Amino acid sequence: MKKHFIKIDLKSINKNPNAGSEIDYLPGKTECRFSTKKLPDDFIDGENCYVVREETMIGDGSIRIEGIITDKELIDNILQNKRKDIELIMKREIIEVRHLPEPPYFYDYENITLKCDSCNREFDSIDIKSEEVWDGENEFYSDRVCPYCNSFDCCEIDYETIEEALKRLELLVTK
Ligand SMILES: [Zn+2]
Repeated sequence: MKKHFIKIDLKSINKNPNAGSEIDYLPGKTECRFSTKKLPDDFIDGENCYVVREETMIGDGSIRIEGIITDKELIDNILQNKRKDIELIMKREIIEVRHLPEPPYFYDYENITLKCDSCNREFDSIDIKSEEVWDGENEFYSDRVCPYCNSFDCCEIDYETIEEALKRLELLVTK
């Protein structure tokens, strides 16, 4: 049985500008709030909007109504017609996502020809599959599944580490 060695493609190594970062900020859903003096006729409370607050101003006795629009068509209608009877305030939620620290480098592995120990067929290393199987008692996982005969751990592979690849890169540069 041959042990395959897959090297990192040196040209593919890139420094990760966010190395070490553990937080991502993702855009969440947008909430469309409105404020008006009089609820327009096409605003139906509980159907395409929710009135959250209605208050009478102490000074001039005018009324101010605030709420949230829940219907996208109504929002489009207001934006497209540049309606003056309503004031829109779009609020976009920002979601904080924590994850493991990002790696210092991004890279791809070279594509080499592998040979399955079960069916003896050859295939590209990028075509190797991973699979998990539950037999009712145990879960089996393999990241070396033959694309032809589906046998698990179909060949032995050593992957070059990023440290080894960086060392190779250094030698190339200093030569
Ligand atoms: Zn095979």
